[in-house]
Amino acid sequence: MKNDQLFDAIIIGGSFAGLSAALALGRANRNILVIDDNNPCNIQAPRAHNFLTWDNSKPCDIIAKAKADVKKYDTVKFIGGRADGAKQISKGFEVVLANGERYETKKLLFATGVKDVIPDIPGLSASWGISVLHCPYCHGYEVKDKQTAVLGNGINAFDVCMVLTQWTRDIRLLTNGRSELSDEQRIRLKKHNIEIIENEIDRIDHEGGQVKSLYFKDKTKLSIPVIYAKLGHTQHSDIPEKLGCKIKDDGYIEVDECKKTSMYGVYAAGDNTSKGRTISFAVAAGTVAGMMINGELSSESF
Ligand SMILES: Cc1cc2nc3c(=O)[nH]c(=O)nc-3n(C[C@H](O)[C@H](O)[C@H](O)COP(=O)(O)OP(=O)(O)OC[C@H]3O[C@@H](n4cnc5c(N)ncnc54)[C@H](O)[C@@H]3O)c2cc1C
Repeated sequence: MKNDQLFDAIIIGGSFAGLSAALALGRANRNILVIDDNNPCNIQAPRAHNFLTWDNSKPCDIIAKAKADVKKYDTVKFIGGRADGAKQISKGFEVVLANGERYETKKLLFATGVKDVIPDIPGLSASWGISVLHCPYCHGYEVKDKQTAVLGNGINAFDVCMVLTQWTRDIRLLTNGRSELSDEQRIRLKKHNIEIIENEIDRIDHEGGQVKSLYFKDKTKLSIPVIYAKLGHTQHSDIPEKLGCKIKDDGYIEVDECKKTSMYGVYAAGDNTSKGRTISFAVAAGTVAGMMINGELSSESF
């Protein structure tokens, strides 16, 4: 089913980056459609931290307030559901939803985030965001001085161990197989009493996501309450790539400082474009995208 309205912008993804862009565009009297299927990457985290004025709040409460703020602007419309594809048309772009509905727009913003690739270790997925953590800046203070493990390998895991000493001195590195650390990295970890454990992990025992013990394939066990996991991730939506936006070697959508992608009229903001993975970065990026979209629309009609 095709909708007759031509929107100024469609925002796919209505979480921190998308709502922030919607606020800027709503306040600029733009007709906006936000399409979101409500699956942000921090959905399992009980609390969010390090976001000014919302430190130690439930992520869903922050989103609910953000939505209420944006809903005050009556030119912004919301649709709950998944966008399935997008194509270029003479007026701009057409977005098709999973249910077959079609919407047309002059500009398109992807605020679609990324999806963490969780290794197939029983117990890991259920504990992700609860006691298996992605970032000490977001969650380190709450678990400071606790016995802590870092799950990862190579330079990324080394960097996490190094930074983590600001929160705890009780750290061991789990490489879950052969270590890829350099000799120099090993020496520096040893200097700070960080043990490297190469045993392969069999499973994680937890209660409601609170990790209790970690079992290795050689039947040994490590009692540990906190794990930082350096996971890989993929784009949450393949629409930007299918549409023709340039994706960088590191998997992020290429954008310039105005959040413009390689395609004219298409913008991207938030986790899908950048390693800096915190709410405040996503909110800032969304504001930039919203303002720049309004600027581009203004320059085209002025
Ligand atoms: C476990 C965990 C805990 C975290 N804790 C903190 C914290 O305490 N403090 C902090 O500052 N940061 C934290 N972060 C980081 C923070 O959550 C992210 O930086 C932030 O959510 C990024 O916002 P975003 O809008 O770019 O993407 P997301 O919040 O991931 O939102 C993307 C949205 O797009 C939607 N979407 C994607 N594709 C489609 C589609 N095709 N159709 C419709 N909708 C679509 C998704 O459903 C989702 O709602 C945490 C991250 C994780 C993984």
